Amino acid sequence: MPPAADVVVIGGGVAGLAIARALQAQGCSVIVFEARDRVGGRLRSVSVGEAGIDLGATWFWANEPRVVRLIDELGLETHPQYLEGDALYQVPGGVHRIAGNPVDVPAGRLKAGMQGLAEALAGSLSEGSLLLEQAVERVRDGGDMLCVEGPFGSIEARHVVIALPPVLAIRMLEFQPALPESIRTVAETVPVWMGAVTKVVVRYEHAFWRDIGLAGSAMSQIGPMREVHDMSGPDGSPAALFGFVPPLAPGAPTVTRDMVRGQLGDLFGPDAPEPTEVFICDWRLEEFTTPPEADALQAYETYGHPVFQVAAMGGRLHWASTETARECPGHIEGALSAGARATAAILLDHGHQADPNS
Ligand SMILES: Cc1cc2nc3c(=O)[nH]c(=O)nc-3n(C[C@H](O)[C@H](O)[C@H](O)COP(=O)(O)OP(=O)(O)OC[C@H]3O[C@@H](n4cnc5c(N)ncnc54)[C@H](O)[C@@H]3O)c2cc1C
Repeated sequence: MPPAADVVVIGGGVAGLAIARALQAQGCSVIVFEARDRVGGRLRSVSVGEAGIDLGATWFWANEPRVVRLIDELGLETHPQYLEGDALYQVPGGVHRIAGNPVDVPAGRLKAGMQGLAEALAGSLSEGSLLLEQAVERVRDGGDMLCVEGPFGSIEARHVVIALPPVLAIRMLEFQPALPESIRTVAETVPVWMGAVTKVVVRYEHAFWRDIGLAGSAMSQIGPMREVHDMSGPDGSPAALFGFVPPLAPGAPTVTRDMVRGQLGDLFGPDAPEPTEVFICDWRLEEFTTPPEADALQAYETYGHPVFQVAAMGGRLHWASTETARECPGHIEGALSAGARATAAILLDHGHQADPNS
């Protein structure tokens, strides 16, 4: 464990990894601490052969320049979201087929799954600079430097980046001295984007809905999945659908596989084949994404709040999760935008001009 670094990044999600890559490219020494045993945070994929299916983020869009450029730079294989065919609309009286597909919009996907973006970023970092299964516990003002502490001991850094949702940071990390009340009161109320949602991915032998002219998309007034989309890989393989289940109420129990199978049977009819696999990821239960009871937070107007645009602790503690972004907060694009702000501030202190394209 190196005793000091120019920058310590807390969180190996897409924001934290992109910051580390940009700073290392400018010659800064950077250490990234990631609590989980994998990188990516809310980018989480399950590999199926060479393809990936997403339990976290799935899409990127053509009007998001940072993520489009990054995917291109990293040389990641993409494919378009499947859009062709009709959609379904489930109401209490039954299921209606809607000509065309008003549910989906054109979007891009990564063949390896969105976690592949985080893995490619991690692979571009200098050896030994990313430490997994290292949950940071404390950030202490040590005078000229900040001290970042956890089970790994203590490391000093000139700058520290909080690349995790503000409400998680404020509840999980101890700051010495305590952060000003003006920051704490805002951070406590910032919802974790998609942190209250359950994502369901259902695999099939074959994308049977395409054979009958359906796009695989649906909206439902009944649930448990309120939205359903095609999640198949390029050319329909692996074949899969995914759905979002919003929480019925804060703390309500999650959806079961039987409930998912039942709804898909109602949507696609008795002739639809049985799924081969059902994955359920309740993001409320992910301790390194959503702290307890944060699923009730609703103050989305706090996204990109001014308190996160300036560094705290004497200009050394930077905020960088997607929730702190002014552009596209919530999206991967927002995480990259927040990361670019933190990177620029740190580079300025190091006497570098930030790359305007970063
Ligand atoms: C179900 C779902 C669907 C989504 N769909 C899309 C989509 O289609 N398109 C899109 O653009 N966005 C989507 N998003 C949002 C997107 O995933 C996020 O905007 C993005 O991943 C946020 O990245 P981040 O780095 O800001 O935060 P995170 O991904 O949350 O990263 C924070 C990291 O910090 C780590 N960490 C936490 N505590 C500590 C600690 N104490 N010490 C060290 N590390 C710690 C976490 O493990 C995590 O890796 C979706 C999200 C979800 C959950």
